[in-house]
Amino acid sequence: MSDSTGNLVDSFGRVHRDLRISVTDRCNYRCSYCMPAEGMDWMPREAILTFEEIERIAALMVNRFGITSIRLTGGEPLVRAHLPLLISKLAALGVDLTMTTNGSRLAEAAVDLRAAGLNRLNISIDSLDRQRFAQITGRDDLESVLAGIKAAQAAGFDPVKINVVAMAGVNHDEIVDFAEFGRAQGLLIRFIEFMPLDATHEWLPTSVLSQEAILAAVGGAHPLEPIPRDSSPAQSFRYVDGGGEIGVIPSVTAPFCDNCDRVRITAEGSLRNCLFSTAETDLRELLTNGATDNDLESAIRSEVAAKAVGHGIGKPTFVRPRKSMSQLGG
Ligand code: SAM
Ligand code: SF4
Repeated sequence: MSDSTGNLVDSFGRVHRDLRISVTDRCNYRCSYCMPAEGMDWMPREAILTFEEIERIAALMVNRFGITSIRLTGGEPLVRAHLPLLISKLAALGVDLTMTTNGSRLAEAAVDLRAAGLNRLNISIDSLDRQRFAQITGRDDLESVLAGIKAAQAAGFDPVKINVVAMAGVNHDEIVDFAEFGRAQGLLIRFIEFMPLDATHEWLPTSVLSQEAILAAVGGAHPLEPIPRDSSPAQSFRYVDGGGEIGVIPSVTAPFCDNCDRVRITAEGSLRNCLFSTAETDLRELLTNGATDNDLESAIRSEVAAKAVGHGIGKPTFVRPRKSMSQLGG
């Protein structure tokens, strides 16, 4: 569907401005809430979108639909070779270009990413304790991520946002530690409620550490006040003493579906209108078969028009997607 301006609109009138592109399904970590510890079947390299294909789809979505921000994700985007080359091509589209990374390879990459035109960075880290970090990610690599965070700041990314998946019984006791870490290092910590997108299907409603619990913990240590909401899914809060801000993404207990402006392209080139959608449109097949820009436009519009009103986690009708977060292009 489109409105009179050509915007990418769904049947509930939501205009889509934010495109997430997964550049690989591969990852050097095995976070327990995302991938199984063993037995990942990676897609063959020839099944993954080429940089040229990514650039063509992205340019079309910017020029025809008014997409204004693009986030690169995965899998782990930094395991894809020559990523700065893709970044420089996408930066030339004039969008707000961001990336989410596990940070393991940032120490070597941060300067090149910045020089290529990446505007902002989110780095994921779920424990500041070396043993627990190793348990969660399957890799004893906390030091690399901490070095990556420092390198990102030194390269001029500001603010550096830190994604923490908050999980009851896993890292609930580190919420205040993360708040202190953010205050001390000048980082914007964003706590994300754990979603049922883990490959091993161990998610339970009781494994979610709620926004309410997160705010009680942080606010108990350093009083907070809400910042009026913008279009971001994160609800932002500032420390009353001027010590900075935190964000919470309450995807489960207070979903932002009503204001969702995101669409996603998986590593193999399928367009998804929602992380929790059970269907997708294969853009790569269209590209391979010589689709024109008009063919692509109508396929993209149809996929977005079919977007559901919300994800429905917790409702009896909720159906988990078969794919895990890393395969969806989280
Ligand atoms: N590998 C990169 C990373 O970890 O930052 C990018 C891809 S990862 C799938 C993107 C984000 O999704 C990360 O911040 C990760 O913590 C988050 N994530 C993965 N599985 C999740 C889940 N089940 N619930 C909530 N967030 C999740
Ligand atoms: Fe890899 Fe990111 Fe998934 Fe962790 S969350 S396994 S780092 S893709």
